[in-house]
Amino acid sequence: MAIQKTFGIIKPDAVRKKVAGNIISKIEDSGLSVVAIKKLHLTKAQAQAFYAVHKEKGFYNELVDFMISGPVFVMVLEGNEAITAWRTLMGATNPSNAADGTLRKLFASSVQENAVHGSDAPETAAQEIKFFFADTDIISA
Ligand code: ADP
Ligand code: MG
Repeated sequence: MAIQKTFGIIKPDAVRKKVAGNIISKIEDSGLSVVAIKKLHLTKAQAQAFYAVHKEKGFYNELVDFMISGPVFVMVLEGNEAITAWRTLMGATNPSNAADGTLRKLFASSVQENAVHGSDAPETAAQEIKFFFADTDIISA
């Protein structure tokens, strides 16, 4: 077991539904710690750059529009095997495939409006944390 950091977003649909607090509770209940957090309204340029890996996908423009449709919470999470632990807590991308008890099963509305984002590997976690946070913003505890 290794302590890792990963990156998460509470997406605009979840912030609008006022379930950000519930999501943070479930993160803490799972054993992960929130070691940095801020509320942001992404610009179009930020959302396009953040999701650049998907720019050839049919859903890219709609995804960017959704991600700028309201404020989000961006977070750094820390804990044992945090990258996998966070993806497991999130559940499958499409909420109809998400396991019971996962955040997407509980809170997602659709495959697009799916409540949360999580890094999928150590490289993307490092890259995504850097996209939003300076080292001095992260308070491990
Ligand atoms: P994940 O967020 O589980 O890592 P992806 O990286 O494949 O999933 O996709 C990024 C985001 O793009 C998803 O979380 C979702 O908001 C959106 N998305 C993915 N697939 C679709 C789709 N088929 N239609 C609409 N939006 C999608
Ligand atoms: Mg992804």
